[in-house]
Amino acid sequence: MKMLERIMLENKAWVQEKLSANPDYLNYLAQNRSPDILWIGCSDSRLHADEITHCEPGEILVHRNIGNQVVSTDLSLMGALEYAVDVLNVKHIIVCGHYRCRSIKAALDRPNPSLPFADKWLKNIKDIYRLHRQQIENFDSLDERWKMLVEVNIKEQVINLSNNPIIQKSWRRGKKPDLHGLVYGLNDGLIREVCSMTPYSALDPIYEYNLDCLTA
Ligand SMILES: [Zn+2]
Repeated sequence: MKMLERIMLENKAWVQEKLSANPDYLNYLAQNRSPDILWIGCSDSRLHADEITHCEPGEILVHRNIGNQVVSTDLSLMGALEYAVDVLNVKHIIVCGHYRCRSIKAALDRPNPSLPFADKWLKNIKDIYRLHRQQIENFDSLDERWKMLVEVNIKEQVINLSNNPIIQKSWRRGKKPDLHGLVYGLNDGLIREVCSMTPYSALDPIYEYNLDCLTA
Protein backbone atom coordinates (compact mmCIF):
# COMPACT_ATOMS: atom_id res chain seq x y z
CA MET A 1 0.00 0.00 0.00
CA LYS A 2 1.26 3.45 -0.88
CA MET A 3 2.03 5.84 1.94
CA LEU A 4 -0.69 8.36 1.09
CA GLU A 5 -3.33 5.62 0.84
CA ARG A 6 -2.20 4.31 4.21
CA ILE A 7 -2.48 7.75 5.77
CA MET A 8 -6.00 8.31 4.36
CA LEU A 9 -7.16 4.91 5.58
CA GLU A 10 -5.61 5.36 9.00
CA ASN A 11 -7.33 8.74 9.30
CA LYS A 12 -10.71 7.06 8.72
CA ALA A 13 -9.80 4.39 11.27
CA TRP A 14 -8.87 7.13 13.76
CA VAL A 15 -12.24 8.87 13.28
CA GLN A 16 -14.10 5.58 13.83
CA GLU A 17 -12.02 4.73 16.88
CA LYS A 18 -12.59 8.13 18.50
CA LEU A 19 -16.32 8.21 17.73
CA SER A 20 -16.86 4.70 19.01
CA ALA A 21 -15.24 5.72 22.32
CA ASN A 22 -17.06 9.07 22.47
CA PRO A 23 -19.70 10.01 19.85
CA ASP A 24 -19.26 13.70 20.78
CA TYR A 25 -15.49 13.72 20.43
CA LEU A 26 -15.33 15.70 17.17
CA ASN A 27 -17.91 18.22 18.39
CA TYR A 28 -15.82 18.63 21.52
CA LEU A 29 -12.69 19.28 19.44
CA ALA A 30 -14.52 21.66 17.13
CA GLN A 31 -15.35 24.00 20.01
CA ASN A 32 -13.05 26.93 20.59
CA ARG A 33 -10.06 26.01 22.71
CA SER A 34 -7.92 28.27 24.83
CA PRO A 35 -4.67 26.44 25.49
CA ASP A 36 -2.62 27.40 28.54
CA ILE A 37 0.66 26.25 27.03
CA LEU A 38 2.72 27.29 24.02
CA TRP A 39 5.17 24.50 23.21
CA ILE A 40 8.24 25.26 21.10
CA GLY A 41 9.73 21.95 20.08
CA CYS A 42 12.06 20.39 17.56
CA SER A 43 10.71 19.26 14.19
CA ASP A 44 12.07 15.78 14.86
CA SER A 45 9.55 13.15 13.75
CA ARG A 46 9.95 11.20 17.01
CA LEU A 47 8.76 13.99 19.25
CA HIS A 48 5.07 14.92 19.58
CA ALA A 49 4.06 17.22 22.43
CA ASP A 50 0.47 15.97 22.72
CA GLU A 51 1.45 12.34 22.69
CA ILE A 52 4.31 12.38 25.19
CA THR A 53 2.28 14.46 27.67
CA HIS A 54 -1.05 12.65 27.20
CA CYS A 55 -2.69 15.95 26.31
CA GLU A 56 -5.77 16.19 24.15
CA PRO A 57 -5.71 18.25 20.94
CA GLY A 58 -6.45 21.83 21.92
CA GLU A 59 -4.58 21.77 25.22
CA ILE A 60 -1.19 22.81 23.81
CA LEU A 61 -0.43 25.30 21.05
CA VAL A 62 2.55 23.79 19.27
CA HIS A 63 5.26 25.42 17.18
CA ARG A 64 8.13 23.31 15.93
CA ASN A 65 11.29 24.07 14.05
CA ILE A 66 14.70 22.53 13.55
CA GLY A 67 16.51 22.59 16.88
CA ASN A 68 13.62 24.16 18.89
CA GLN A 69 14.99 27.64 18.33
CA VAL A 70 13.64 31.03 19.35
CA VAL A 71 14.89 33.36 16.63
CA SER A 72 13.55 36.90 16.61
CA THR A 73 13.53 37.08 12.79
CA ASP A 74 11.39 33.94 12.53
CA LEU A 75 8.04 35.54 11.69
CA SER A 76 6.21 32.24 12.00
CA LEU A 77 7.28 31.79 15.61
CA MET A 78 6.98 35.49 16.46
CA GLY A 79 3.40 35.50 15.16
CA ALA A 80 2.55 32.40 17.21
CA LEU A 81 4.24 33.90 20.27
CA GLU A 82 2.40 37.20 19.93
CA TYR A 83 -0.95 35.43 19.54
CA ALA A 84 -0.25 33.02 22.39
CA VAL A 85 0.79 35.75 24.86
CA ASP A 86 -1.33 38.74 23.84
CA VAL A 87 -4.55 36.97 22.80
CA LEU A 88 -4.62 33.53 24.43
CA ASN A 89 -2.80 34.69 27.59
CA VAL A 90 -0.96 31.39 27.88
CA LYS A 91 0.38 30.69 31.36
CA HIS A 92 3.39 28.66 30.29
CA ILE A 93 5.79 28.59 27.38
CA ILE A 94 7.85 25.46 27.07
CA VAL A 95 11.00 25.10 24.99
CA CYS A 96 11.47 21.36 24.69
CA GLY A 97 14.59 19.97 23.10
CA HIS A 98 15.68 16.36 23.08
CA TYR A 99 18.79 14.31 23.45
CA ARG A 100 20.30 12.79 20.30
CA CYS A 101 18.91 15.72 18.28
CA ARG A 102 20.36 15.43 14.80
CA SER A 103 20.13 19.15 14.15
CA ILE A 104 22.26 19.81 17.23
CA LYS A 105 24.74 17.20 16.06
CA ALA A 106 24.86 18.83 12.62
CA ALA A 107 25.67 22.15 14.33
CA LEU A 108 28.68 20.47 15.95
CA ASP A 109 29.98 19.58 12.51
CA ARG A 110 31.37 21.72 9.73
CA PRO A 111 28.87 23.51 7.46
CA ASN A 112 27.46 21.48 4.58
CA PRO A 113 27.65 23.58 1.39
CA SER A 114 24.97 21.45 -0.28
CA LEU A 115 22.42 22.48 2.38
CA PRO A 116 22.86 26.27 2.56
CA PHE A 117 19.47 27.06 4.09
CA ALA A 118 19.67 24.37 6.75
CA ASP A 119 23.18 25.59 7.51
CA LYS A 120 22.03 29.16 7.84
CA TRP A 121 19.41 28.08 10.37
CA LEU A 122 21.89 25.93 12.28
CA LYS A 123 24.36 28.80 12.48
CA ASN A 124 22.36 30.11 15.46
CA ILE A 125 23.23 26.90 17.31
CA LYS A 126 26.86 27.18 16.24
CA ASP A 127 26.86 30.62 17.86
CA ILE A 128 25.60 29.01 21.07
CA TYR A 129 28.40 26.46 20.83
CA ARG A 130 30.92 29.29 20.52
CA LEU A 131 29.38 31.05 23.55
CA HIS A 132 29.67 27.87 25.65
CA ARG A 133 32.74 26.38 23.99
CA GLN A 134 34.70 25.97 27.21
CA GLN A 135 31.89 24.15 29.01
CA ILE A 136 31.21 21.88 26.03
CA GLU A 137 34.83 21.12 25.24
CA ASN A 138 35.39 20.00 28.83
CA PHE A 139 34.01 16.72 27.56
CA ASP A 140 36.18 14.53 25.37
CA SER A 141 33.53 12.38 23.76
CA LEU A 142 31.32 13.59 20.96
CA ASP A 143 28.28 12.10 22.70
CA GLU A 144 28.88 14.15 25.86
CA ARG A 145 29.49 17.32 23.86
CA TRP A 146 26.34 16.62 21.88
CA LYS A 147 24.33 16.19 25.10
CA MET A 148 25.74 19.38 26.61
CA LEU A 149 24.97 21.42 23.47
CA VAL A 150 21.38 20.10 23.55
CA GLU A 151 21.04 21.43 27.10
CA VAL A 152 22.75 24.80 26.63
CA ASN A 153 20.74 25.34 23.46
CA ILE A 154 17.53 24.91 25.46
CA LYS A 155 18.78 27.39 28.10
CA GLU A 156 19.74 29.94 25.45
CA GLN A 157 16.36 29.65 23.73
CA VAL A 158 14.60 30.30 27.04
CA ILE A 159 16.84 33.36 27.50
CA ASN A 160 15.94 34.44 23.95
CA LEU A 161 12.28 34.28 24.98
CA SER A 162 12.93 36.38 28.08
CA ASN A 163 14.69 38.95 25.90
CA ASN A 164 11.73 39.22 23.58
CA PRO A 165 9.53 42.36 23.82
CA ILE A 166 6.33 40.27 23.69
CA ILE A 167 7.36 38.48 26.89
CA GLN A 168 8.78 41.55 28.59
CA LYS A 169 5.61 43.55 27.91
CA SER A 170 3.47 40.82 29.41
CA TRP A 171 5.70 40.55 32.49
CA ARG A 172 5.70 44.32 33.02
CA ARG A 173 1.90 44.21 33.02
CA GLY A 174 2.06 41.72 35.89
CA LYS A 175 1.00 38.80 33.74
CA LYS A 176 2.41 35.40 32.87
CA PRO A 177 3.82 33.39 31.09
CA ASP A 178 6.34 31.35 33.01
CA LEU A 179 9.11 30.03 30.78
CA HIS A 180 10.36 26.46 31.01
CA GLY A 181 13.26 24.69 29.35
CA LEU A 182 12.70 20.94 29.12
CA VAL A 183 14.64 18.10 27.58
CA TYR A 184 13.13 14.84 26.36
CA GLY A 185 15.05 11.58 26.54
CA LEU A 186 14.52 9.46 23.45
CA ASN A 187 15.78 6.39 25.28
CA ASP A 188 13.49 6.54 28.32
CA GLY A 189 10.66 8.74 27.03
CA LEU A 190 10.92 11.06 30.03
CA ILE A 191 10.96 14.86 30.15
CA ARG A 192 13.32 16.62 32.55
CA GLU A 193 13.54 20.27 33.54
CA VAL A 194 16.65 22.13 32.38
CA CYS A 195 15.80 25.69 33.46
CA SER A 196 12.94 28.06 34.11
CA MET A 197 12.19 31.78 34.31
CA THR A 198 9.23 33.60 35.80
CA PRO A 199 7.98 37.20 35.49
CA TYR A 200 10.15 37.91 38.55
CA SER A 201 13.39 36.61 37.08
CA ALA A 202 16.23 39.08 36.80
CA LEU A 203 17.01 40.14 33.26
CA ASP A 204 20.37 41.17 31.93
CA PRO A 205 19.96 44.97 31.57
CA ILE A 206 21.58 44.86 28.16
CA TYR A 207 18.48 43.00 26.94
CA GLU A 208 15.91 44.81 29.04
CA TYR A 209 13.52 47.03 27.09
CA ASN A 210 12.75 50.55 28.16
CA LEU A 211 9.60 50.26 30.29
CA ASP A 212 8.04 53.55 29.29
CA CYS A 213 8.37 52.85 25.58
CA LEU A 214 6.89 49.38 25.98
CA THR A 215 3.78 50.30 27.96
CA ALA A 216 2.93 53.44 26.01
ZN1 LIG B 1 15.81 17.56 17.15
